[in-house]
Amino acid sequence: MSETSIIDSAILETYEPVIGLEVHAQLLTQAKAFSRAATEFGPTPNTNTDPVVLGHPGTLPTVNRLLVEHTVRMGLATNCRIRPRSRFSRKNYFYPDLPKGYQISQYDDPICHDGWVEIDLDGEVKRIRINRIHMEEDTGKMIHDLDIDNTLVDLNRAGACLIEIVSEPDIHSSREAYLYLMQIKSIVTYLGICSGNMEEGALRCDANISVRKRGAEKFGTRTEVKNMNSFRNVERAIEHEIARQIELLESGGQVVQQTRMWDAASRTTRTMRSKESAHDYRYFPEPDLLAVIVTDEMMQAAQAALPELAIARRRRFVEEYGLPAYDAGVLTETRDLGDYFEAAAGALKQKSTERFKLVSNIIMTEVLRVLTESKMEIAAFEIRPERLAGLVELFASDAISSKNVKDIFGAMLESDRSAEEISAEKGFVQISDNGFIEDAVQQVLAANARQLDAYRGGKTNLFGFFVGETMKLTRGKANPKLVNEILRAKLDEA
Ligand code: ADP
Ligand code: MG
Repeated sequence: MSETSIIDSAILETYEPVIGLEVHAQLLTQAKAFSRAATEFGPTPNTNTDPVVLGHPGTLPTVNRLLVEHTVRMGLATNCRIRPRSRFSRKNYFYPDLPKGYQISQYDDPICHDGWVEIDLDGEVKRIRINRIHMEEDTGKMIHDLDIDNTLVDLNRAGACLIEIVSEPDIHSSREAYLYLMQIKSIVTYLGICSGNMEEGALRCDANISVRKRGAEKFGTRTEVKNMNSFRNVERAIEHEIARQIELLESGGQVVQQTRMWDAASRTTRTMRSKESAHDYRYFPEPDLLAVIVTDEMMQAAQAALPELAIARRRRFVEEYGLPAYDAGVLTETRDLGDYFEAAAGALKQKSTERFKLVSNIIMTEVLRVLTESKMEIAAFEIRPERLAGLVELFASDAISSKNVKDIFGAMLESDRSAEEISAEKGFVQISDNGFIEDAVQQVLAANARQLDAYRGGKTNLFGFFVGETMKLTRGKANPKLVNEILRAKLDEA
């Protein structure tokens, strides 16, 4: 629980948190939702606009087809029902980042409704229902910290394609909220419809939070917490807000329905405004746009194009490759990493569970380490899967030691040569020839007669000494596993 909590955990346990998340995902489209203005980020402020975005009189919106297609794919991927016919509505409010004075959104007939996603809660699968997914346009950005006297407005983001995914209040802890959000991120990135980057605002989350006594049927009064710009902060903000509400109730107070801001620096929430309700917005059907029709053909095409999603892929990795669930989870975190693993596993000449696990090991340790250190994406990683498979093969066939694997991997980063070439050049070839090793062992035993007598006299801890001498004699090239086996046999001969 929250570090600021003054209530002991026994009391916390008598309450059940109830949480519903509203997640906004910015879609990866080149044009805006209702005009041809570009969505590209980073250029000079207020350049990605046009008369439609700016709400000039006489301009008319048109729907970006990709906005509809992406939303339908998201709906199908989250087991939603898709409305064959839905409408846009105007949500009216005044704010400087909204030049038209209203936001085009959907209200009473959102395009997707009644779906669910699964989260894996420490091995237990739990379903979180989705109430709706609707299409809308983004607002501009207010910049408060660039000019001391003024707040600046940048409308480059205004009108960009956005979807809002609203969960049912099925979430009962900060951990579940975190897992749900990770699941949404995984789905949008597997679909390729959103970057999923929370720090950059491509994924935004508002958390509705209430608590009730365990066993109570009625929900408590909720607050809505905004402004969490990372997955960790969502978890922290929810934890904090749960504790705050319980403390309030325990001290005889009442939760006020309001919108609160998360402050990452102080790790607390503070009042932002009293909660608005739907009727404050005076929603009405958007008169400038026709109804959105999703035809059977569109549905079928979207369904057929759905990729295998992370959760299904993870299960398949366990079954098909015999990987531990943990490995499968790491390898399917992004679609590209999963593709990389499958390409490497597929490139192995000899396929076995043991070798698949070796591929997984080297990706999880060496490859991911390099990617993290160099802040690189797997797609740009210089060792392509086929080359990595070559390295795994070399090791699995006992041609090199595990220490050699690291060295060769390092050299592979520097050039595009194969593991075999590098290994030969470095003279790494591990010798697994029985005759060769037997000869070496014989020589070592002959040269160390005194130690041999002592060993046979009961000083069996000299075994390591003989292994060391044999490795020295072969200049480290003998396969240590074979050296051990052969030594064991020779020493135990009468
Ligand atoms: P609004 O229009 O005010 O945003 P909604 O009814 O659309 O309200 O619900 C928004 C979110 O709040 C949903 O995710 C829903 O699951 C959640 N929610 C509703 N009631 C509660 C409650 N008492 N406690 C926690 N979450 C709630
Ligand atoms: Mg809301």
